[in-house]
Amino acid sequence: MSEYVIPPVTLPSLAIVDQAARFPIRRVFCVGRNYSEHAREMGHDPDREPPFFFMKPADAVVPATGTLAYPPLTEDLHHEVELVVAIGKGGTRISPSAALDHVYGYAVGLDLTRRDIQAQAKKMGRPWEWAKAFDASGPSTPLIPASKLGHPSSGKIWLKVNGEERQQGDLADQIWPVQDVIAYVSQSVELQAGDVIFTGTPAGVGALKPGDVVTAGIDGIAQLHMTVGQR
Ligand code: MN
Repeated sequence: MSEYVIPPVTLPSLAIVDQAARFPIRRVFCVGRNYSEHAREMGHDPDREPPFFFMKPADAVVPATGTLAYPPLTEDLHHEVELVVAIGKGGTRISPSAALDHVYGYAVGLDLTRRDIQAQAKKMGRPWEWAKAFDASGPSTPLIPASKLGHPSSGKIWLKVNGEERQQGDLADQIWPVQDVIAYVSQSVELQAGDVIFTGTPAGVGALKPGDVVTAGIDGIAQLHMTVGQR
């Protein structure tokens, strides 16, 4: 007798650099605004208002190679390059000083956004899922374990479209650094091994069109290269 009435989904996972074993993904938390210049460009006061979060489904995280799938229902697909943090050890009410012990590793990802749908959701007080949580909306590079990389607190974060620089910032400019973000999430829910956090994007977000070549990276961590697919 089978345990499930339909076949269960394959557990979403991320590759790990130089290792055959993969990182199993449980949930994906995303920080809304975490760089002052990006908060300003979106029309908000960046003065350390508490961080806020939204989520993507675990299987939104896909390898950041090859074709970047252009999603339906949008005319304004935006790129947001972000530091991705993979949690290796869970906990509740984690203190910022202990938070980095909970990190398995880091990667570079894109928080792809249907900006037109998000704008409408903001205007109407609706949730953000239709703007943020679509299929393949979180491409990510393989993880680099913190045991090899350490815990970078600075480094240029950038994104180019067709070779032209669009986004630029530095991890040191994060309003809420990784340890604070982990502390905040763990106050709301029990953070668990396998959780992944997209930590927000620097200024310069903009639209992608079919055929665009996207390159992005964080110096000292990783780079990605994708081509935007057809609508
Ligand atoms: Mn984002």
